[in-house]
Parts: sequence; structure tokens; C-alpha cells
Amino acid sequence: MRCLMLFCLLLGATPGFALDRSQVEGYLLENGLQVLLKTGYERDHVSIRLVVGIGFDDFPCERQELPHLLEHLLFSGIDDSGEGGLETRMQALGGEWNAYTSSADTTFVIEAPARNQRKVLDLLLAALRDTKIDDNALQISKKIVEREDGGHYTHLQRWLDRQDLGHRASDQLAVELGLKCAERSSVQDMTLAQVDALRQHWYAPNNMSLIVVGGLDRLLPAYLERTYGQLEPVEPGERRVLEGVTHPAEARRELTRGWLGESARLHWIFLEPVLDAGHDATYDLLQRYLDWALYSELRLQHGLSYGPAAQRESVGDTGLLSLNADVDRDQVEQAERLLGQMIERLRKDGLEPATFERIKGAAIAREAWTSQGNSALADYYWGALNDYAEGRVGEPGQRLREVSLAQADAALKGLFAAPGYVRVEKPLLGYDQLYGLAALGLGLMLAAVLLWRRRR
Ligand SMILES: [Zn+2]
Repeated sequence: MRCLMLFCLLLGATPGFALDRSQVEGYLLENGLQVLLKTGYERDHVSIRLVVGIGFDDFPCERQELPHLLEHLLFSGIDDSGEGGLETRMQALGGEWNAYTSSADTTFVIEAPARNQRKVLDLLLAALRDTKIDDNALQISKKIVEREDGGHYTHLQRWLDRQDLGHRASDQLAVELGLKCAERSSVQDMTLAQVDALRQHWYAPNNMSLIVVGGLDRLLPAYLERTYGQLEPVEPGERRVLEGVTHPAEARRELTRGWLGESARLHWIFLEPVLDAGHDATYDLLQRYLDWALYSELRLQHGLSYGPAAQRESVGDTGLLSLNADVDRDQVEQAERLLGQMIERLRKDGLEPATFERIKGAAIAREAWTSQGNSALADYYWGALNDYAEGRVGEPGQRLREVSLAQADAALKGLFAAPGYVRVEKPLLGYDQLYGLAALGLGLMLAAVLLWRRRR
């Protein structure tokens, strides 16, 4: 009897603890809008993400900011009360919203009380559908976008961008390889007609996904059918095809960052060859492995760097994996030599099996506690949209589990088959050099005074 009670208790308790992230209710409305619904952890709150399939990379360099400009314009207001009136309505519903433009998409992000979810979705729909964009709104949004990008784009800034002084090392390399635009696009010349065309062709239900996670309203599916289901679909356009690497880059470069200082940053950057199976999971594990290798080589064994790290990023259609270390400027050469030896060792000997298994285990364990809460779960579905099929998104823990040592080893050999690109960032002068220059200046002055005295 007691056992039975315990069994019943356990049975009652488990659903509260375990939430299967990979299972999600997804369907298409008749107009092509993709809907993803998930009952989340907190029931009195919902996280909403409306993802529009248009981003920076869909435009050539001189017009890249266009989707960002439209994103801002859609907060201009839906009636005479303007943007302030729109914000007031959202506040009255207890919600918060924001939007982000990335290289691949434009996403509206909302957190709101569950009881107001339909009203909040109404407001979002009104902003998308009813915002009147005029010249005045265009001018205001242009100013905001410019400010966000670091102020008015001056001739000096443009010149500095061209000289590669304004970029981080991987950005600089991406520009050199032709993966990234050398300059920011100026928003000044963008017209209402361009903005309208973008809105008409890409802000269509068949180019959007709506994700709602949390305490879902029972009537939500019927509501969505009646409201968002009425948006008119458009003929889907072709998205811009990314070109990949188009230019060769120098193997090693020193980049000047700032005027004065003793610290430097060393970067060794590799292009990720595309893998047939488990591409992301394999490189994620390699990145973690290399992170540890860097840490144990540069910090534990040689005390050269405090926060060395391996990082992955994607630029256009290309993945970059970088080994990065902060070092003193007079230890750059030593760190670079040690890093070169470490890479050579890994190239020759491959991964260490026990270390690989330990790191893989930790990565899998991590998946059990990341993406907790409605908001993180909604972001997770946003990132995994391409992965969704028939009520499931891929489970990252499972993906990681499937990567074998042999597979990871082969990927490592492929990654290190090319020599990679070294970038060293350091300030123009170190203090020693500054003192040297000051002493030289003083000496010259003294010599001039003596010379002047002797002439008299
Ligand atoms: Zn912005």
C-alpha cells in the first residue's frame, strides 16, 4: 500500500519537473504563417517571438540597414497618439516589447502577462498591419538607427572603417575574405519606396513564424486563425544567396587598437569546413575541447593569459572558429609559438580520448539546465526554427551524444588542415616605447639648447 502511494506520488510529481523541450505543437495557418505553441514553466506569463525571415544578409552592402530601419519604423505608432501612444498601450497591458534585426531575420520579442496574451498579440498585429509610415517617421527612425550604430557616420569614421581600424580581429578577417561589408551602409539615402517594398514583399505571413511559450490561452489557436490568419500571403521571393569566401586574406597581421597600453590580444582563426553529419554539434564539442586546451596550455602551464577562449561565430554562410588569448604585449611571440606548437600537436596526435569524453559529458549535462523558463525556451525555439519538423525540434543533448571521438577527430584534422589566420591586436605604443620617445624628445631639446648657446 505504501509502495503504491509512493508510486502514485511519483507519477503525479514527474510532469511538473520534466518538460520535454523537443516536443512543441506546430502548424501552418492557411496563409502560410508558421505557429509554434508550447505550454511552458510559468503559467501566468507568456513569451512571444514573431520571427520575420529577412535580415542584413538579404541586402547588398550599401542597403544592409534597410530591414533594421523598417523594424524601427514599425514602432512609429498606429494612430494620432504616435509612438508614445503605442508604448502606453503596451504598458497598460503589462507587457514589454523590443525588436532585433540580425543577419538572418528580424524578430519582435514580447514578454507579457498570460491573461492579456490575446490583447498583446492584437497590438503586435496592429503595429505590423496599420502603422502608417510617412516622411517624418522615416527621418526619426533614420536618426535612431544612426545613433545605435555609434552616431552619425562621418567621413573620418568611414575612412577608419576602410583602414580596418574599427573592426575586431575576426571582423577584420571576415572583411578581408569578402564575407562581410567593409563599411556600414548609410541610412540617409534610403527612401519610403524602398521601405514600403521591403514591407510588402517580406512582411508576409508565409515569411513569418509566431512562437508563444508559457500559460497558453485555451482559445489561442482559434484566435490566431481569426486574426493573424487573415494576413494576405505574397508570392515568396528568392532570398539572396551568400557568396562565401571570395578574396584571399593575409596569413598574419598586426592590428593597432588604441594608442597606449601594455596588453595585446592574440587570435588564431580557422574556417570551419562543412561536415556531412552533425556539423554544429561536432564543432561545438571541438570548441569546448579547444577552450580547455587553451586554458591548460596558456594559463595553467605557462601563466601567459588569464582568460584564453575558443569561440565560434558564423559570418554569412561561413563558420569561423578562433583561439583567442589576452597577453602582455612583450609576450605575444612566446604565446604565439606555444599556440602554434599546441595546434601542431593536436594536428598530429588528435584528441585525447579521456578529455574528449569528459568534455562531451559536461556539454550534455549542461543541456539539462539551459533554456529554463518561458523566455529562454522561446529563444531556444527561435534559434531552432530551421530544425523544426512534425512537432519536434532537434534535442541538442542527443545531437552531442551522437558525435563519436572518431568523428570529432576527423573534424579537427579538417579544421587544422589549413594553417589558419593569425591576428595580433595591440595599442600603438607600450609604456616603454613612450618613455623611450619622451627621453629622445628631451635629449633633442637639450641638444638644441646647447647648440643655440654655443652659436651665441
Ligand atoms: Zn535598432
